[in-house]
Amino acid sequence: DNPIARKPDWIRVKAPTHPIYHETRTLMREQKLVTVCEEAACPNIGECWSKRHATMMIMGDICTRACSFCNVRTGQPDALDAGEPGRVADAVAKLGLRHVVITSVDRDDLVDGGARHFARVIEAVRAASPSTTIEILTPDFLRKPGALEIVAAARPDVFNHNLETVPRLYPTIRPGARYYQSLRLLDEVKRHDPTIFTKSGLMVGLGEQRLEILQVMDDLRVADVDFITLGQYLQPSVKHAAVDRFVTPDEFADYAAMARAKGFLQVAATPLTRSSYHADEDFAALRAA
Ligand code: SF4
Ligand code: SF4
Repeated sequence: DNPIARKPDWIRVKAPTHPIYHETRTLMREQKLVTVCEEAACPNIGECWSKRHATMMIMGDICTRACSFCNVRTGQPDALDAGEPGRVADAVAKLGLRHVVITSVDRDDLVDGGARHFARVIEAVRAASPSTTIEILTPDFLRKPGALEIVAAARPDVFNHNLETVPRLYPTIRPGARYYQSLRLLDEVKRHDPTIFTKSGLMVGLGEQRLEILQVMDDLRVADVDFITLGQYLQPSVKHAAVDRFVTPDEFADYAAMARAKGFLQVAATPLTRSSYHADEDFAALRAA
């Protein structure tokens, strides 16, 4: 087991005490929805939920993969819940979200990897909240031919898929995934429908070198990926990959400057940045620009 490193003082997590935090929590329980905010033990939950920003995780809380950074349980998932698209749509309407991020576990067990379910969720949210912009954060759909076309046809506003780390670290951090498959997914979504914004994210502090991160940024730009997020990896428990080091706020500022110079339209790079952190503000700012 890996002992959990003490966090530096730039990683401060506020306790969730705001009344709206509790309202958000109650709504998620009532709608029987799973959130990545809770499943990933996200440090931003107090802040995000106090603004009603919950990122729902569809297709259950058991994943067919076992990434060494991830807090989600691995195993044989339950059957898909046909009522889930409607409940997600209800929750988005009740939360009054202008931008929603919807993610999922990986479903290697399903013939289409869950693509049709994703499309149904997008359609249900669109029908109930036509002015809400929809960002999906998907699995890699490895060996699921036709899956990305099904999801893209439902026209999400943002198609997000995280590369998570540099290719050298895939065997230990993201076993079961392939760097070039993830990159190709993003590239193909853009080629399939250039009006969909594409987005990807990386965790840092896992043992990567700066030049490796810059190379990943270049790979993403070659695939025409529009938005990038970078955040500090935090170890969820002793059973997960250890933090190699805490990247300083100055280094994050350098990564952000490099990403902007490489042409990403939207860049978020701070220690507590997560894929869905401030995604609504960032997307609204982009559209207003
Ligand atoms: Fe949830 Fe994302 Fe906010 Fe974390 S950053 S609490 S995952 S919405
Ligand atoms: Fe976690 Fe996603 Fe990996 Fe599953 S595929 S273990 S949900 S990061």
